[in-house]
Amino acid sequence: MSELFIDIRNLVKIYKTPAGEFPALKGVSLTIDRGEFVAITGKSGSGKSTLLNTFTGIDHPTSGEVYIGGEALHRYGEEQMAIWRGRNLGIIFQFFQLLPTLSVIENVLIAMDLNHVIKRNQRRERAMYLLELMGLDDKAHKMPSALSGGEQQRGAIARALANDPPLIVADEPTGNLDSSTAEAIFDLFKSLVSEGKTLIMVTHDNDLAKRADRNIVISDGQIVSQGERLRQELVLAALSDRSIVPPAVRLKDEAHPQR
Ligand code: ADP
Ligand code: MG
Repeated sequence: MSELFIDIRNLVKIYKTPAGEFPALKGVSLTIDRGEFVAITGKSGSGKSTLLNTFTGIDHPTSGEVYIGGEALHRYGEEQMAIWRGRNLGIIFQFFQLLPTLSVIENVLIAMDLNHVIKRNQRRERAMYLLELMGLDDKAHKMPSALSGGEQQRGAIARALANDPPLIVADEPTGNLDSSTAEAIFDLFKSLVSEGKTLIMVTHDNDLAKRADRNIVISDGQIVSQGERLRQELVLAALSDRSIVPPAVRLKDEAHPQR
């Protein structure tokens, strides 16, 4: 049976700008099960990055509640939140963001040194294991600038996995890669999910998004489709001979085609 992992309730983010207040998230509610592979799509400026950043505490939401793994993150202060992130979250961005003055393996090691999840005497072995997993074992001691874009992104993924986090979020991780490299990264994500990780990927690529377990569509700071999981629930309910009223959100799907 599926297990509720992430429960986001009425998340609001209002940016204060010189031109006034700008509501980037207008009350987003969303649940994600443990082990789900969720894609989030939507036009540029629709609020995808804001959603990722606020529910993971990288940025403060204006209001709303965020429960992950039963923890009420919206009640956490800055320091508690940073500790939670270090232990539970792997983050991957569009522009790789390996530290340029450290070698690839040092980039992975520093993530372990900062969070003390992996025992000190196991860190180097684990870093090498992750780099092997990413096909980067022969590049471990190179500087990021000596790597191709796809290799740098795989290095960034190794770093995101350093502390074996249950949750991985990726903001346009393939946005800067050619399609075959993007495909390889996607396959890598699939294998992480098959090992039990929960993965949330923001993407511009609708073809990739369709191949995730579920595609959430956001438009103008609001969720306009929660994706297919509800349909699966209907099927399960039908099979178990329970009746369930189709949620109204299903009806919106056709009215809001993805970009
Ligand atoms: P997406 O990731 O979907 O492209 P974002 O979440 O980055 O969208 O941005 C959503 C909206 O919020 C956009 O209109 C953007 O201009 C605005 N925005 C994002 N960050 C800030 C900020 N720090 N200050 C003011 N407005 C912002
Ligand atoms: Mg964005």
